[in-house]
Amino acid sequence: MRDLRVSVTDRCNFRCLYCLPETEEAADFYRTRLDGLRQALPGARPTPIHREWKPRAEILRFEEITRVVRVAVGLGIEKVRITGGEPLLRQGVERLVAEIAGIPGVRDLAMTTNGALFGPVAASLRQAGLQRVSFSMDSLDRDNFRRMTGRDGLGGVLEGLRLARQLGFHPVKVNAVVIRGMNDHEIPDLVRFAAAEDLSLRFIEFMPLDSSRAWQKDLVVPGREILERLRAGFELTPVDASANPSETARRWRLGGGRGEVGIIAPVSEPFCGHCNRLRLTADGKLRTCLFSLDEHDLRPLLRGGGSDADLAALLQDRVRHKEAGHRIGQADFVQPQRSMSCIGG
Ligand code: SAM
Ligand code: SF4
Repeated sequence: MRDLRVSVTDRCNFRCLYCLPETEEAADFYRTRLDGLRQALPGARPTPIHREWKPRAEILRFEEITRVVRVAVGLGIEKVRITGGEPLLRQGVERLVAEIAGIPGVRDLAMTTNGALFGPVAASLRQAGLQRVSFSMDSLDRDNFRRMTGRDGLGGVLEGLRLARQLGFHPVKVNAVVIRGMNDHEIPDLVRFAAAEDLSLRFIEFMPLDSSRAWQKDLVVPGREILERLRAGFELTPVDASANPSETARRWRLGGGRGEVGIIAPVSEPFCGHCNRLRLTADGKLRTCLFSLDEHDLRPLLRGGGSDADLAALLQDRVRHKEAGHRIGQADFVQPQRSMSCIGG
């Protein structure tokens, strides 16, 4: 295990179709799609995950997070990514960044954000020691962006991207979740944008981690199909990833030398065998897989006088029992109780 993802809040200011689809438009999109599903599978009904924001008292304080990170780094973690929910909703997150950046052994400190609140804190995040930022941007079309995220936020993300590059974050990444019939027609535009702006673009398969449980396989554009579409329009040079066997993306440099594109295909081409990630949820639960069905509560140790050695022993024990892999597509697959926004993507 080398990579720890720390969710700092389960709250979010967006309502993405694939994560927290709680808008009328999202409901309409799925309703239309699900009509087809019901005909194919009589009786099939989405069962929404019951979601309410966690009370503040249950959310880990910065010193509790820092302590877990320090213990985890002592056991081999080298990369830390701050995420959420929307991590920039957590007040003073730059203080947490500074504390984590100061832990010896943290080689790489990154954040994933929807970008809406990035502008005002960008410089202080950089100063605090944040090295890399990934922005989620699924569309370059203002209306489609709003349909996908529930917010009129494209301008804000574009501004965030510009600022991030200006401040020297490198590389600046863009994540785009591809949903068939929603934004898959924008694949070429997103690639052209990555080339023009020298960005590192990642297309991500839609995973069954949405709060409405409306995910269906036919909404997933498999990585192989994304690649075919890329090959049809762009010159791609493979990036050698042999130095990092736990890399989740297959990557290519774009012709012309500017920008990079990658495909993350956890649904159609699982990479569980070499996964090196752990996740800490905002309320202090350790997850050894995005699709874990059980979580391990660190709060009793953190708040009940447990020692660092106790914490380390718990982390090691859980890692030893890490799942062999997710079971998406298998008859016994069960979607986790919590959506991606609660788990921390
Ligand atoms: N709010 C921040 C953001 O959107 O960047 C950080 C948290 S978000 C849960 C982290 C990443 O998870 C985002 O890039 C998002 O696109 C991705 N994500 C969320 N739900 C997903 C799903 N069902 N399938 C694939 N990726 C998903
Ligand atoms: Fe919020 Fe990120 Fe989930 Fe979108 S993907 S709803 S921005 S947590």
